[in-house]
Amino acid sequence: MLLNERQEKIIEIVKSNTPITGEEIAKKLDLTRGTLRPDLAILTMSGILEARPKVGYFYSGKTPLSFLAEQVNTITVKEAKSMPIVLEETTSLYDAIVTMMLEDVGTVFAIDEGYLSGVISRKDLLKSAIGGTDLNKLPIGVIMTRMPNIITARDDETALSAAIKLIEHEIDSIPVVEIEDEENKKYKVIGRISKTNITRLFAELGNHN
Ligand code: ADP
Repeated sequence: MLLNERQEKIIEIVKSNTPITGEEIAKKLDLTRGTLRPDLAILTMSGILEARPKVGYFYSGKTPLSFLAEQVNTITVKEAKSMPIVLEETTSLYDAIVTMMLEDVGTVFAIDEGYLSGVISRKDLLKSAIGGTDLNKLPIGVIMTRMPNIITARDDETALSAAIKLIEHEIDSIPVVEIEDEENKKYKVIGRISKTNITRLFAELGNHN
């Protein structure tokens, strides 16, 4: 949220004179109370100022950036995720490449007996291809990154936490899982969070005026 010059001034006045009445703020700015009303309404509605009847305005200590952070923290993986592309781990590298092209994804997830068993990325496949592997013969299970070394996310965690995982682990995509049995690592794949999902969120947040 961008504040105008007068709203910034009001914040400064309230900061150094807490609590202060609307009348007193108006006097300091050489304006009428009526002129200030819309600005004070914006500042209290956004939570930057608190208004207490018969006392006046207080500064809440929050900045426009902390409101953005608060808003970002309310977005969950469940809201941000998209459909996962899942293949049996016995699928050939050739078929995995075809799937990536048809589905327009850079990562596919492998399953074994219905549970997440691995992740295979574009570069994993390219490596095999330039190594001269027979793409029709080798299953993805042989070259994929395997459980338990898979970075996963859950529906109820924040999209921010998933974004941090993407960055920290330098990966493009994370399977969203439902944990059926933590001890035996039985995870059902119920979605996918990729760098594209996070970019989309960023664009949506920026478009809220
Ligand atoms: P690319 O290979 O196209 O650069 P990534 O950066 O996502 O794509 O993958 C880099 C490596 O990390 C690959 O070997 C891939 O198997 C592995 N990888 C990708 N996603 C995950 C994940 N969620 N958890 C663990 N390893 C992953």
